[in-house]
Amino acid sequence: MDNVLGEKDICSRCGKCCRLLPSGKSYAELCSLAEKGDKTASNFLKLFLPHKSIDDALLIDENYVKQTAALNKKKFGNDYETYFYYCRYLNDDNTCKVYDMRPKLCKNYPKNAFTVIPEDCAYEGYLFEARENIKKYVRKTKEELMEISILKKDCNTPNELRKYENLEKKYIMLIDKYRAYGSEDW
Ligand code: SF4
Ligand code: SF4
Repeated sequence: MDNVLGEKDICSRCGKCCRLLPSGKSYAELCSLAEKGDKTASNFLKLFLPHKSIDDALLIDENYVKQTAALNKKKFGNDYETYFYYCRYLNDDNTCKVYDMRPKLCKNYPKNAFTVIPEDCAYEGYLFEARENIKKYVRKTKEELMEISILKKDCNTPNELRKYENLEKKYIMLIDKYRAYGSEDW
């Protein structure tokens, strides 16, 4: 999915996203990876520290923490655990100590229309509009898929059949891309 934010910076600096960074890796796992030379893990640890317990994360925004963990289980399976981290470069007034050098992860937040965002995040309206556009696009894709299925039944040559089967696969993949977000019901 594309980044949905363009150049707009409407962040209200509530600081919640900097205090609740989710990862599928525990602190011990990240440290072990970093020791083995994994650059992603070591870069992550340069910025983020683990919350002592899930309760500390829940105190910041219970809905956000629960929704993020639930979505990750839906996307990656029931065994997937989500751990929450906070950034060591966040000032008390929620400004960023390293703003000009902040990583892409921060510059591109929220990453896509389905990113779970903290309550009252200024991007909610944007994401809502972006999600509606994606739903429209998926509905149109479903309509076209039905037309392809009808055309497929009437085709006369193996080449034609192959063409429609390939198209069908492509359209099904497009719909499946949003399955974790409920595309089968749109
Ligand atoms: S680097 Fe700055 S913008 Fe990124 S999480 Fe830390 S405080 Fe927030
Ligand atoms: S949660 Fe939203 S409004 Fe709050 S700091 Fe992050 S991007 Fe800005």
